Amino acid sequence: MRLFWNNLRQDQLLELFFIMLASTHQRALLLDYDGTLAPFRIQRDQATPYPGVREALEALFEARHTRIVLITGRWIKDLLPLLGLKQPLEIWGSHGWERLMPDGTYEIAKLDEWALQGLTEANAWIEAEGLRDRCEQKPASLALHWRGLELKAVKEMREKVLKNWSLLSWETGLTVHEFDGGIELRVPGRSKGFAVETILSEMGEDTVVAYLGDDQTDEDAFKAVKGKGLGILVREKFRPTRADIWLKPPEELLEFFSNWEQAGKKGK
Ligand SMILES: [Mg+2]
Repeated sequence: MRLFWNNLRQDQLLELFFIMLASTHQRALLLDYDGTLAPFRIQRDQATPYPGVREALEALFEARHTRIVLITGRWIKDLLPLLGLKQPLEIWGSHGWERLMPDGTYEIAKLDEWALQGLTEANAWIEAEGLRDRCEQKPASLALHWRGLELKAVKEMREKVLKNWSLLSWETGLTVHEFDGGIELRVPGRSKGFAVETILSEMGEDTVVAYLGDDQTDEDAFKAVKGKGLGILVREKFRPTRADIWLKPPEELLEFFSNWEQAGKKGK
């Protein structure tokens, strides 16, 4: 099944999408976490979901008509304490490098020696520059966060890090990605798009899917759902994107979840 959403208004597109959702028996709701389900916090370990999101997801779980998957750039172990959901769910972490299934099965892809070497080198530089407090270490990347800093300090830090990591990227093959509030040095080969493609390959041809995300790293996932469902940009302010529609959190997001739950019930 291929979908072409061209030339439709957002409300028409959503209406059509929910009709399709009600007409199928295979539904996949794929969700980014930070900035999508949870507002940004300067203290990243305090980024809990928007009010109403947990309840909406619990209701969707209980309806049992949808495969719900979280796809995040975070290390899964750092995300789990923030979720606060009653049911265990499928989570892809570290941009597609690790996966936790609802039954507790956990997989992490093996990194090549050169990648580990590159990350070790980058880590040593972070330490030498005194940036340890701002650096998030993950299985296949290092992310430097500058949310909460003055504009001038952000500019200086960005320039310094870009310079060093660009060189390191050239030497090691690691890749540099900017995101909302920081910059990340990643091992290439996996992405949120890889997670989406794997999930869809495990489901039937008639699966109706939506991917919800806010940031640049979600663009790989929007690309992967193109023609198979709906890419949804969730953000306060619009930005250029491959996504098909734009929702403002939390109200429009909660309304979307509620419509999804109802559409799935009609299809049963
Ligand atoms: Mg995000």
